[in-house]
Amino acid sequence: MLLGAIADDLTGATDLALMLSREGMRTIQTIGIPRADLDLGDADAVVVALKSRTNPASEAVALSLEALSFLKRAGTRQFLFKYCSTFDSSPAGNIGPVTEALMRALCTDLTIVCPAFPANGRTVYKGHLFVGNQLLSDSEMRNHPLTPMTDSSLMRLMAGQSRLRVGLVTRETVGQGAGKVVQAFEIARDKGEQVVVVDALTDADLRVIGEAAAGLTLVTGGSGIALGLPENFRRAGLLRPAADQAVFASPSGRSMILAGSCSEATRRQILTAIEAGMPALKLDPMAIAEGRLRVEDALSWALGQSAGAPLIYSSAEPDEVKAAQALLGRERAGSLIENFLAETALGFKAAGVRRLIVAGGETSGAVVSALAPDALFIGPEIDPGVPWTLTIGHMEPMALALKSGNFGAPDFFLKAWDLLT
Ligand code: ADP
Repeated sequence: MLLGAIADDLTGATDLALMLSREGMRTIQTIGIPRADLDLGDADAVVVALKSRTNPASEAVALSLEALSFLKRAGTRQFLFKYCSTFDSSPAGNIGPVTEALMRALCTDLTIVCPAFPANGRTVYKGHLFVGNQLLSDSEMRNHPLTPMTDSSLMRLMAGQSRLRVGLVTRETVGQGAGKVVQAFEIARDKGEQVVVVDALTDADLRVIGEAAAGLTLVTGGSGIALGLPENFRRAGLLRPAADQAVFASPSGRSMILAGSCSEATRRQILTAIEAGMPALKLDPMAIAEGRLRVEDALSWALGQSAGAPLIYSSAEPDEVKAAQALLGRERAGSLIENFLAETALGFKAAGVRRLIVAGGETSGAVVSALAPDALFIGPEIDPGVPWTLTIGHMEPMALALKSGNFGAPDFFLKAWDLLT
């Protein structure tokens, strides 16, 4: 295993896994800490998706160390601790303690902190984190319900959250290339610094920092920091050429679509699919609540369709959603539909469906919990941010596309299948 990452939340893990896959690494994302005997096949990178961002620091440390043990057993060469590009951490702070614990467990004396993600407007300058044109502490993040960020100085945040001695590598140094950054790391080491915040304003900066980080056992940052790491392995002759690493042999079996997202993009995708003649069944939340529509009914409808990829959806216009919420309550309406779709997915699995698209973030979470794969291999990207994945673990392999509500072009449900071989 060339690169082993520990991510502090699920969507962040997916982001990182996609980034590595795009850069030509065969990448697997686990759901939680994997079983010790999980077969990682010929993967180059594995991202362990934890849910530790807002846990008490001691729990986050314990989970991260358990993930590290798994990665060490997999023979990982380089380790990455991935957190949010807005450095989301509870007031007591998890990023510092986890970094410190990982460093100790890996017996390494220097790591970097670089949450920059320029594509999303997150940059680091003079050790301060910016969101768009604002300092982190002036941005909306200051009001975040779980992780309010009221300081923008990454050096102060790291020093406050850990006992590590913190230094800085400025943009001026990064601008002079990887060699100078490596020299700066050496100078930091000589000064007894254990963690250096590294400035980055652009993807080019991230690639320079990635190159300079080739010799670090542990790297920490947002998913942007992964941009320059795969090339190090390629340069060292350890990684195959970039093309087509994300291809997988798609399992054969029936294809289905489940949509629980009411976002505009998903509603447009549903309309486009129906107009193209795709069989579609709309779920009425009241009918589910009153027992007039059961999972068996939806299953027999879908399995009875002879053509195309049948679509089952609860997606509705805002007025309809409001009406259902008024009658059932917002939470109950949501969980009723999520559970219904998750059970339908289980029914599909039992009936031999092997290709499934799920639309909606929460909906995808519910479906993945029900199907409970150990991990997902990251396959070809259908639209930005949405790859096909292949389930790995004790279940029969299934091709799964988990689409955030607002992602994807109008013809997403039609064209996605073309990428499966
Ligand atoms: P998105 O990614 O678009 O936000 P999610 O799946 O995360 O989609 O969230 C959509 C939520 O709306 C889910 O909890 C889902 O169960 C709920 N929902 C879906 N259809 C309806 C509906 N017709 N009425 C009320 N709630 C609905």
